[in-house]
Amino acid sequence: MEGGIQKGRGSKWVILVTGGTGLVGKAIEYVIENEPAGSRFGKRPNEKWIFASSSEADLRDPAQTRKLYEKYQPTHVIHLAALVGGLFKNMKYKLTFLRENILINDNVLHASYEHKTQKLVSCLSTCVFPDKVEYPLTELNIHNGPPHESNFGYAHAKRMVDVQNHAYKEEFGCNFTSAIPTNVFGPHDNYDLEDSHVIPGLIHKCYLAKKNKTPFVVSGTGKPLRQFIYSRDLAKLFIWQLREYDDVEPVILSVGEDEEVSIKEVADAIVKAVGFQGSYTFDTSRADGQYRKPASNKKLLSLIGDFKFTPFEEALNESVKWFLENYNNARIGNVPSA
Ligand code: NAP
Ligand code: GDP
Repeated sequence: MEGGIQKGRGSKWVILVTGGTGLVGKAIEYVIENEPAGSRFGKRPNEKWIFASSSEADLRDPAQTRKLYEKYQPTHVIHLAALVGGLFKNMKYKLTFLRENILINDNVLHASYEHKTQKLVSCLSTCVFPDKVEYPLTELNIHNGPPHESNFGYAHAKRMVDVQNHAYKEEFGCNFTSAIPTNVFGPHDNYDLEDSHVIPGLIHKCYLAKKNKTPFVVSGTGKPLRQFIYSRDLAKLFIWQLREYDDVEPVILSVGEDEEVSIKEVADAIVKAVGFQGSYTFDTSRADGQYRKPASNKKLLSLIGDFKFTPFEEALNESVKWFLENYNNARIGNVPSA
């Protein structure tokens, strides 16, 4: 591994982004292309970025994963690829979330080791944290108790990445680390009505209610609290972590713990952003999931210095605008006829 760690240093960086066609991958591509070249978050002259999709390589398969690495010979990897879903999809497919994500992560981490990748940043989620733990969540308490039962499959698969990162470092000296984002939203999100996260799901439902003059129904009680991060802010933080952070311990990538928003406040903001005139109801027969999981961004801010997060309402307006302009090409899943 010694020679591998040196490979490419000071020379060309070939940066492979797995899951490069998803919400976060597209945001990284946007930031790399739109921030001034050579700036902290913009493209640098010695960098080549590759954004891989599942059709290029199904990362559940070791042979396809190896082939992808052989093709691009990445010196650096941001690993985003995962089976992803919101609360309801996680509740339905716990084993599938566990198995597929374990397979994907194991293949990517091992291929990164075999190909002497200089640096690997993998993506976890605040779901990895224990359900019953002191708040705010910090990087130190990932493994101190079982995760919330609603998504234990996904959470355990993601937790194992942190365990593997430590093991690859101790046994082979690999420079592997991880990022822990809170709930993400933005352009190119998954706007499926049932299998998505709360913001894209509710944007789509609210849009249909406005267009078809049908009821707008929000799942659960509206009381749970979440921290949301705009995908393009998160993209900058991933670029920072890849270039400037060299430690195996994870970093929570989040707005401050004082910026929790209730699901009702999210629904109200979506109603405003979509311009829906009617009233809406809560379907309290549906699950609320974890009540809250406030995460601290102290470590992040102490390392990155100055960073400006996009205000929630502005980010939501940009996401709604993107959704309306791209409805025909967006990931909208099956939409019942009006
Ligand atoms: P997303 O929009 O659903 O994108 C998932 C990406 O993974 C897509 O590029 C997809 O490729 C790829 N992928 C899925 N299965 C694959 C497979 N078997 N082989 C190769 N690629 C595969 O998800 P996202 O929201 O951007 O999530 C990115 C990362 O952030 C994930 O690791 C997720 O766990 C984490 N995260 C997300 C959130 C959130 O709120 N969205 C919150 C915390 C953490 P195709 O496009 O070709 O299908
Ligand atoms: P989580 O942050 O991992 O729990 O995932 P979600 O982004 O799916 O957020 C779940 C929270 O939003 C729960 O409290 C749900 O009851 C609530 N919620 C309300 N409406 C919806 C919806 O249409 N889709 C989803 N996924 N959650 C919703």
